[in-house]
Amino acid sequence: MKEQLTEEKVFKDPIHHYIYVQDQTIWDLINTKEFQRLRRIRQLGASYLTFHGAEHSRFSHSLGVYEITRKIISQFERNGYPDWPAEERLVSLCAALLHDVGHGPFSHSLEEVFDTDHEEWTCKILLENTEINRVLRAVSDDFPNQVAAVIQKTYPKPIVVSLISSQMDADRMDYLLRDAYFTGVNYGTFDLERILRVLRPYKGQIVVKESGMHAVEHYLMSRYQMYWQIYFHPVTRSSEIILRQIFRRAQELYVGGYSFEWMPNSLKGLLHNTMTVHDYLKLDEALVQTVFTQWLDERDSLLRNLCDRFLNRRLYKYITIDNPDETLLNEISDCLSSIGMNPDYHMEIDFPFDLPYDVYRPDKKEGENKEKAPILLLHGKDEISEISAKSDIIRSITGLHQGRYHLYYPEEPLRESVHLLPDRIKKLFKLD
Ligand code: ZN
Repeated sequence: MKEQLTEEKVFKDPIHHYIYVQDQTIWDLINTKEFQRLRRIRQLGASYLTFHGAEHSRFSHSLGVYEITRKIISQFERNGYPDWPAEERLVSLCAALLHDVGHGPFSHSLEEVFDTDHEEWTCKILLENTEINRVLRAVSDDFPNQVAAVIQKTYPKPIVVSLISSQMDADRMDYLLRDAYFTGVNYGTFDLERILRVLRPYKGQIVVKESGMHAVEHYLMSRYQMYWQIYFHPVTRSSEIILRQIFRRAQELYVGGYSFEWMPNSLKGLLHNTMTVHDYLKLDEALVQTVFTQWLDERDSLLRNLCDRFLNRRLYKYITIDNPDETLLNEISDCLSSIGMNPDYHMEIDFPFDLPYDVYRPDKKEGENKEKAPILLLHGKDEISEISAKSDIIRSITGLHQGRYHLYYPEEPLRESVHLLPDRIKKLFKLD
């Protein structure tokens, strides 16, 4: 098989200007139907209801992660650094391109309700009977396993894993820039070119030349800002809550034997929790939104109402609660029930938090080493230090940054029954 394309291919891209493809394998992977499906999955899920520009797809992000990885490797090769294992180029590029191929429609909401995991789907898509698997197997029989191992972070060479999964990897660098661009905010920008120039392969890992510290500080501050301004935006959280409730209600009805007016076969496996790769690949956001539109005519009024809220952006409002103790929550719940609301669906406590940069972030999953490699500075030729030991700015944002509790609820039914509510509740929901 030809390894290099006779003529390189380019994709015009708003973040990287051009994305260059030189390898036949990469070109063939992009043209598989599983990769093309990513055009129909938004990178930021329901965020477009908050930032109307955020319609960009996982297809464009995946190409961007590939391009950043390609640039890093090409910088290493041009400089002839002996610590970069040249034979790892193709496996690194394939893993970068395919790292998100298992994302489903509105991934995070879907995963929470149906307990699926996009990384597991990614590996199945790489290893089972798919077009992607065929392209990877053309490289070698074991190649699909190697790419999957990089994505699962079990690949024997950590330097390859850290390219697409570390505290400063190609994935994060692309999504911060891309999400900032498409949401229209300035927080996410940083000097990508400068960072790419100061990365060095060093004893089996990727480190940053000391002089690049300020560019890395800027990157981490951007990440911190993007979390609070974009990813945890309270209106986006409201959209995600409604999405989860639609999925939850649909599953509850389906399992309870309710007969839907409209139920495509491709959704049944999801509601059953029995899905093959083949079923999973039929899911995309176009399908899910079509289903929601059809469900506007369902007999179940709760499902109908939730779909109307999502499609027509009639989102839940929220109040901030500093100490949501059980007594207070029970009181609210009883109160909502007393005016005919359903607390299972009509109130939800949300507590967003993130670790913008953590030196040693322990992972929740036991028994697996999924820590993200810390950012290391290289001083001179041979001295290494963890970046927060050198930077006051990074030290100040290291560790947990706590958010506040928000309680989400539909405002209209509360307003309609305001005369039946006790004063304390009226005050809490600012209805007085
Ligand atoms: Zn990604």
